[in-house]
Amino acid sequence: MGVPDPSHCNQTDPDMALVLRRVGLSSFSDSRIIIAAWLPTCHHGRMSRKAERAKETCGLCNSNLSSPGGEHVLTRALTREFFPKSKGSYTTTSRNGVVVRPHFDSVILACCPGCNDILEKRFETPGGKAARRLLSEPEPKLTPSETVHAVLWILKTWLLLAHPRTEFQTVPPVSPRAQGLPELYSWLISDQLPPAGLSAWAFRHRQDSDSLMKMPAPAQRLELPIVIVNGKTIPFFSMDLTLKLVNVALVYHPGWRLHHSPAASGEVTQIWPISPGVQLYSLPELHNRPLQFASGATLKFLPDRYQEEHLPALTPGVSPEFLVLDRLAAFDQ
Ligand SMILES: [Zn+2]
Repeated sequence: MGVPDPSHCNQTDPDMALVLRRVGLSSFSDSRIIIAAWLPTCHHGRMSRKAERAKETCGLCNSNLSSPGGEHVLTRALTREFFPKSKGSYTTTSRNGVVVRPHFDSVILACCPGCNDILEKRFETPGGKAARRLLSEPEPKLTPSETVHAVLWILKTWLLLAHPRTEFQTVPPVSPRAQGLPELYSWLISDQLPPAGLSAWAFRHRQDSDSLMKMPAPAQRLELPIVIVNGKTIPFFSMDLTLKLVNVALVYHPGWRLHHSPAASGEVTQIWPISPGVQLYSLPELHNRPLQFASGATLKFLPDRYQEEHLPALTPGVSPEFLVLDRLAAFDQ
């Protein structure tokens, strides 16, 4: 299949830039979609894998045993609507070329019935249909309520695609998966909102043959640092994926504000955090991603010096270390 293995692009992953390039793939196929991804392979038969999964712990609560079927990260409703078998094969496109696939493979996370039920009630039922409209309709005209539920569904789905234990089929993983981001998943099965520092931006990704063949580099590049405070590494994370008509870039930047200049100029729309009452009538359209997230320098802070209010926002085109040095220079004057 063609879902990129959005495995965690943790900033501790030296291959993050590569991961981002790979994740940044999108495709176009007989007017239907495409996602890009790198996929962990299940080397077992379908039934044996189900039996094995039933002996594994849930990937969300990490305590109960998974059901044999687990959680379908890309739901059957989505795959039926976006990739119907009746319409034949579809393609996925990456820098490595175009692959024609006869059907859309499943993407599954080991998940217990209890967590599965929570995901259904919290995300799928209230937001699944609105999210599919947002991903597939040029003007979904979502109400404020539909907008919030659709965005939460997207955050949930993008994060589960990146879960270290999510199983993809067909294509083996090309990058190690990062660990150590439990706060990105614990909120999914609680009454909490996503953790502070999680942001997401979206645009309608126009994919025509000219755009795909040229694959121009993003206009801007924003470096995410590896932050170490008092000996503890603060994980930053980035994931960029186009599904159907829409590209969503999700970034976890705990404790350090981020200036997304394409969002500031209206080229893309920030969908998280989102203010109450905002509605997504439509998304701006672009041929290419206007901003690429990349791995930056490792910065060690003294205790109590990593304070969001004192740090200049991470900015495209400026390495984080220079932001910090400029601030130190200002203090010295
Ligand atoms: Zn569970």
